[in-house]
Amino acid sequence: MKLQQITRGKGKYYHVYLPKNIIEHVLHWHQGDNLEYKVISDNSIILKKLLYPVNKYLEDLSCPVCFNHCVTIKGIKIPKRNEFKIVARCPLDHLVTKTFFSQRSLAEWKWYIHETINICDLCGGFLEEEVRKHASSTVRPFYKIVFRCRDCGRTRSKVIADEIVDLSEKPPDDITPPIIQKNQKIRQKSRVKVCPTCEEEVPSNHVFCSQCGTFLTEEII
Ligand SMILES: [Zn+2]
Ligand SMILES: [Zn+2]
Ligand SMILES: [Zn+2]
Repeated sequence: MKLQQITRGKGKYYHVYLPKNIIEHVLHWHQGDNLEYKVISDNSIILKKLLYPVNKYLEDLSCPVCFNHCVTIKGIKIPKRNEFKIVARCPLDHLVTKTFFSQRSLAEWKWYIHETINICDLCGGFLEEEVRKHASSTVRPFYKIVFRCRDCGRTRSKVIADEIVDLSEKPPDDITPPIIQKNQKIRQKSRVKVCPTCEEEVPSNHVFCSQCGTFLTEEII
């Protein structure tokens, strides 16, 4: 059995991973207790017990499968609807979520997005900024930022609205930064790739094999 305690904002809950043979007992136990549970695969379920009310925005930005906090890849304003569209990815199972937040409550949710700008959506590692371009517009200004991940070495590019990137004030004291679990299975991108035709080792930035000239496609994750 694996027990994991997760604290989000003022909320706190537990994930309990159990082998299949005792699931029935647990479901029986569930009848007499106020627990929520979710079946995540054939051999494990998650029991979720809410000890305090969980912050609504953290809940909205959680992965529906594993409850990890999703990392923002796109956060743009939709002026006509007075809202922001947030596209985020869970670094553990790479599930992509789309959430809409109102412009009126920007001050309440922007930090949870802002805190993940420098996080890699593939592995949960730290992103170093490489290039930043600004698209100035009176209704929908945004930044396009290109990063390189310090952990997995991959290039990531994000499009984020000015309102979320430019935060001159400090986050309120009661905001706990989101906890993002890292994906240990994502390996460092290799510096060489192997030609599928002649098996020559070629630097990963080469488009053609230096020995036989085969066109080499990018490594797919
Ligand atoms: Zn997930
Ligand atoms: Zn990474
Ligand atoms: Zn070759």
